[in-house]
Amino acid sequence: MTADRMLTVEEAQEIVLDSVSVSGIERVPLSESQGRVLAEDVAPRFDVPPHDNSSVDGYAVWAADTTGSSADTPCHLEVLEEIPAGTVPAVRIGPGKASRIMTGAFLPEGADAVVMVENTRQNEEGVEVLKAVRPGQNVRYRGEDVRQGQRVLFDGAEIGPGEIGLLAAFQRSQVSVRRRPVVAVLSTGDEVVEIDERLEPGKIVNSNSYSLSALVRECNGMPVNLGIAGDSESEIAAAIRSALSADVVLSTGGVSVGDYDYVKKVLEDLGADMRFWRVKMKPGKPLAYGLLQGKPFFGLPGNPVSCMVSFLLFARPAMRKMMGYGPHDWRLPTVQAELENDLTAGGDRRHYLRARISCTGGRFHASTVAGQGSGMLSSMTGTNGLVIVETGVTSISRGAEVSVLLMGAADQAVS
Ligand code: AMP
Ligand code: MG
Repeated sequence: MTADRMLTVEEAQEIVLDSVSVSGIERVPLSESQGRVLAEDVAPRFDVPPHDNSSVDGYAVWAADTTGSSADTPCHLEVLEEIPAGTVPAVRIGPGKASRIMTGAFLPEGADAVVMVENTRQNEEGVEVLKAVRPGQNVRYRGEDVRQGQRVLFDGAEIGPGEIGLLAAFQRSQVSVRRRPVVAVLSTGDEVVEIDERLEPGKIVNSNSYSLSALVRECNGMPVNLGIAGDSESEIAAAIRSALSADVVLSTGGVSVGDYDYVKKVLEDLGADMRFWRVKMKPGKPLAYGLLQGKPFFGLPGNPVSCMVSFLLFARPAMRKMMGYGPHDWRLPTVQAELENDLTAGGDRRHYLRARISCTGGRFHASTVAGQGSGMLSSMTGTNGLVIVETGVTSISRGAEVSVLLMGAADQAVS
């Protein structure tokens, strides 16, 4: 065990992140790659676009022919052919000539500009150009987006709609991505019952398995629900053993100093390499972390809010590192916000207060919600940020600048 001493959040995060490594690679169909992390650098095998083409409907011309053209002094050009998008031009444009061309159609040889159809007048003999064009005007050049062999997407990039579009343009129907971690989720506690079980006196519903599975899914992991283990060493040991086919194991409850808190003992008996078991934070504090057969094991606290916040601070960064994200994308983003209300905190450890974060006038604003108890699950709804109150600070006044971890996008003010 590294530390009997209570670690700071940063110390604990560093230990967790140092102990996990990047997952293996798999190839997936492009259509299934959204939200995954690229595991290769990508360059197209051909220029994009593949040929000079027109950005408007109009006439492909030799720009010099149109010099000085206006509505009063149009130039007259002979029209050679029509080039719809998807066809290949047949004839070369020489001086005094033009070809009717549609948006996206390949530019014919000899042409160096396109006159918009709005600036032309068609007649029996051909077309009149009512406005001069410069060379290159309304032309999209071959390779101007991406050149053949030019690497534009890199290992570690998250694949979003733009990346998917570009990969499709490159004819990449398959891409290499990092494997998504399978995350086993185990709840412990004699008082915990399944969602559809009768709530006898003394019992509470297993909400942690649901919230944790949702958090795992939100960061693109694959949760596997292992149900509930009662507060006995044998039940917990059996459940943990069955979790070891997963890449990451999360348990909730049983990591405190109560008489029935067996998770740490079982982990040690199973030969886990335990790294820490407490972190100086609220909600949270009891948090067992270690490697069991090389797999990261997070013994999260049972309190519903503590368990979610601990996941966000420790398990999520580990999963993101495993999934191939770079160091800047491991942790939740931090912003500075103006506090909208007075607040008080214990001062004994760092507090993470659930808050609603909005963005008005180009600034973030934070309003903490009323019920901040570690069991107040409602504080995790309608909130999108965690206001950080450092150890030793017992109150902060409205208007002060505070650091906030964003759990989601900030609300935008509607004006
Ligand atoms: P523990 O960490 O086992 O002492 O549990 C702390 C608190 O969290 C207790 O009030 C438990 O009843 C509650 N709790 C433990 N596990 C769960 C769970 N799976 N779902 C909801 N609450 C839980
Ligand atoms: Mg318990």
